[in-house]
Amino acid sequence: MEKLLLFDIDGTLMEESPTHTASFNYVCNSIYGVQTDIESFPRHGMTDTGILYELLKKENVEDDQIRNGMKKAFSAMVAYVSENLKPDDYKLLANVNSVLGKLHNSTYSLGVLTGNLQAIASLRLERSGISSYFAAGGYGDDSRIRSELVNHAIERFGKPIERDNIYLIGDTPLDIRAARDASVNAIAVATGVYKASDLTGSDLVLNSFKEEKKLMDFLKI
Ligand SMILES: [Mg+2]
Repeated sequence: MEKLLLFDIDGTLMEESPTHTASFNYVCNSIYGVQTDIESFPRHGMTDTGILYELLKKENVEDDQIRNGMKKAFSAMVAYVSENLKPDDYKLLANVNSVLGKLHNSTYSLGVLTGNLQAIASLRLERSGISSYFAAGGYGDDSRIRSELVNHAIERFGKPIERDNIYLIGDTPLDIRAARDASVNAIAVATGVYKASDLTGSDLVLNSFKEEKKLMDFLKI
């Protein structure tokens, strides 16, 4: 029986990437000719498609114009991040490597479920040295809606799996909501911008992956 753990990246496995964050203002300016302020935009837990869309809507850019420029904007975003990537963009959070190593040697398969564009996620996972742990993924260019990324991750996993045996692990209320909408289990970790008390409604809340035993007990490993 297959079991799959799908990890969010920013605030869950790694600190948020300053270069990736900055790339939104860069593409809004270079592709759409609009000045935006990503730093003050409440983006945590959103997909890159959703962030770009809402950021431009806020500056009164028309839907059609946003959609027509999106492919070009994403290419520019990937190029910008690739050219400017630095160690701060793939800094692993405490005890992540140890937890992933143990889970990888268990009966669970691992994947990512991230709002990052696939190319950006892959780059950051490779540079941080953890990419070989993951057998599947759902990414921010698969859909604007986070819960729909679960379907893409299942498809890339390529094996039949029950929803009851899928666990979404993330750091925001939007990760929990995506898990509920996709009818999979939700595990929250309070290592992003939200506190543990903001993450109720998940099946398990961890203060960080330093609470390794609590996670392993919950997963019956
Ligand atoms: Mg996150």
